[in-house]
Amino acid sequence: MEVQERQTYQAVIGLEFHAHLATETKMFCGCRVTYGEPPNTHTCPVCLGHPGALPVTNEKAIELGVRAGLALNCDIAEKAVFARKNYFYPDLPKGYQISQYDAPICTGGYLDVPLGDGETIRVGITRLHLEEDAAKNVHVGESGRMHGSVGSLVDFNRGGTPLMEIVTEPDIPSPEAARATANHLKDILRAIGVSEADMEKGQLRCDANVSIRNPDGTFGTKTELKNMNSFRFVERGLARELERQRRILESGGRVEQTTLHYDPDDDEVHELRSKEYAHDYRYFPEPDLLPVEITPSWVREIESSLPELPGQMRARFMEQYGLSDYDAGVLIADRDLAVFYEKVAGAPGVDPKQAANWITVELRGRLNETGMDVSGSRVTPERMAELIGLVGEGTISRSAAKDVLDRVVETGESPTAVVEREGLAAVGSDELGGVVDEVISANPEEAERVRGGDQKVIGFLIGQVMRATRGNADGGRVRELLLEKLGT
Ligand code: ADP
Ligand code: ZN
Ligand code: MG
Repeated sequence: MEVQERQTYQAVIGLEFHAHLATETKMFCGCRVTYGEPPNTHTCPVCLGHPGALPVTNEKAIELGVRAGLALNCDIAEKAVFARKNYFYPDLPKGYQISQYDAPICTGGYLDVPLGDGETIRVGITRLHLEEDAAKNVHVGESGRMHGSVGSLVDFNRGGTPLMEIVTEPDIPSPEAARATANHLKDILRAIGVSEADMEKGQLRCDANVSIRNPDGTFGTKTELKNMNSFRFVERGLARELERQRRILESGGRVEQTTLHYDPDDDEVHELRSKEYAHDYRYFPEPDLLPVEITPSWVREIESSLPELPGQMRARFMEQYGLSDYDAGVLIADRDLAVFYEKVAGAPGVDPKQAANWITVELRGRLNETGMDVSGSRVTPERMAELIGLVGEGTISRSAAKDVLDRVVETGESPTAVVEREGLAAVGSDELGGVVDEVISANPEEAERVRGGDQKVIGFLIGQVMRATRGNADGGRVRELLLEKLGT
């Protein structure tokens, strides 16, 4: 029988990010950068594009761009040179966007992306450049304002917000890896204070380019998924698009170069515009701005102020505290949580792995429920360490500790005080031995079945002991004692 060689489909993905820079003011004027304020309350002749108004480059934005470039292992240009990108859209009052074209401030970097299973991939950074964001079109529906008419309004508060575009090489081999890349980039931008990167506020947006490699190894035709504001959707959208491309190739067709939108509501990709033309933006050097010099000493100064990067911190957490890649990843994704963790893990009597468990699962779960983050919560690292210590030394059971944590999250009390007041201290081992004996003699049939090797009934006996101790015993210890006394 002839064995047909199975065709393999290798995905090729490159990402483009837009991130708002964490500056106080806009890119080329003194207007404040704001979110959620009444429309058109932070504007001036420059960001409204009035004729004759002159832009002035925000040096803080250059500094943050360089900072990001250094964290992404890029080469830094000697000058920040700007260019006009000409196009017409209602959210662009000047008729052009000030951007960078042939001389981006950062080029040729890379990012080592942890995939969560201990593996990492290296993703090349093609370029990082600075530009200004457009204003925001607000579409007014029939049920909306404007006396029932339909139309579009423009909110210029966002217009001119400092924006950084980061383009990766097509080095990403799967939708999962694309999501991991995006998450890691977000972690970095936050950790180095370059962007708050809050996707709900539109501070970070992602476009994904995707193709399937030709059988001869060359690149296939790519399509582009535009403007995704959640990395979960980046992953799902890419998976759907790869399926679509594979179906086309399997039926002998050809993938057309198009721009698509992934709609999470129907979990489908929809075509936005087909046959992408090479837009002619008629780029030319911005005549109203002088290039800003980026001196080597400035670059060194910025470099020396970089904190430990997420990738380094992750490796250190795994090494120093023996954490899994996954746990380390959860902690470093939230710098405040990571700092909190280190204080707890370093406290006397605390096992760092236990601490990771308590913090990433129990504490984080409770904080998420109340919509709080760790810095705003009542639970201090000292209280958390105290609680973990009480469990470690056997003073309270794990289940009692969870109740205690509920109280501590609510009131900020000392765990020891809660344990004393509520009588939650674990039953001592002598006393526990006695309870186990009583349960065995009160349930002779079940005890006999366990002796005979029936492991299922052990759960029933454990339950009886827990009931007798009102839950103040460690389940694992109870199991051990039962098995010991039943001689299995
Ligand atoms: P364009 O000229 O369409 O803007 P670029 O070469 O500038 O294309 O690349 C834009 C993005 O698309 C980059 O992130 C790049 O990594 C990615 N990309 C380029 N070629 C491919 C491909 N064949 N498949 C997937 N992604 C690609
Ligand atoms: Zn302004
Ligand atoms: Mg391009």
